[in-house]
Amino acid sequence: MHVFITGANRGIGLTFVKQYLNLGWRVTACCRDLETANELVALTARYESLTTVEIDLENLDELQVNDLALPTDLIDLVIHNAGYYGPKKVRFENIDLSEWRKVLEVNTLAPLLLSELLYPKLNITGNCALVFISSKVGSMADNTSGGGYYYRSSKAALNSVVKSLAIDLTSVGVKCVALHPGWVLTDMGGPHALISTDTSVAGMISVIGSLTQQQSGAFLDFQGKSIPW
Ligand code: NDP
Repeated sequence: MHVFITGANRGIGLTFVKQYLNLGWRVTACCRDLETANELVALTARYESLTTVEIDLENLDELQVNDLALPTDLIDLVIHNAGYYGPKKVRFENIDLSEWRKVLEVNTLAPLLLSELLYPKLNITGNCALVFISSKVGSMADNTSGGGYYYRSSKAALNSVVKSLAIDLTSVGVKCVALHPGWVLTDMGGPHALISTDTSVAGMISVIGSLTQQQSGAFLDFQGKSIPW
């Protein structure tokens, strides 16, 4: 089995890499700067089944799938994990369009465009899935505190993308799901977060492993519980 993971150099993405390698999967780990991805690069010396690919998800215009040094094996699972919060404490009186565009580019545009680029490489005759790491913060129903304009809108739009893609890919049996990883101790989650990357990722791997076609298009948390849109 072969998984392609974005944002694989740190946080939740790096933990996905480690756990899938431990499970014996072939892993293609994607990050934007291998020069600084020390922990990920160190893993390549230990695992022949690990390949790294450099992609900056803010510059997808120029990207062609032929530019990606992909292993020849078809891909069973894509985990769109890379994410960018943008500036904190954005006030509606002070919107920075270039920052908002950057957040949308990484969190919303890149996952769909990359899905399109990777589609010919998917093992669609197998048990194939596209997983999009979203956030409960993108849920309208969950928004009781306001603010977070760039990040919330990017994840809400991502959820919409996942829903449409799930419907469009039903006929070929490719499952698509939006997952909330929990509030996780990473650079983005901050020091007060509630769970470790190990707990979050172990939960998500279990949810992904038991995903049914009926669940395609759903918004689930790392324990498999449904999240209202
Ligand atoms: P981190 O901030 O720890 O890691 C973010 C990852 O995304 C890094 O690998 C980063 O690479 C990558 N990334 C950011 N911008 C780009 C870009 N332009 N091109 C390529 N890669 C990029 O975050 P987490 O591990 O916490 O988050 C992973 C996912 O989980 C995100 O989608 C996030 O929105 C989501 N999430 C996290 C929560 C949490 O509590 N932590 C809660 C809910 C959702 P680089 O090192 O190069 O910056």
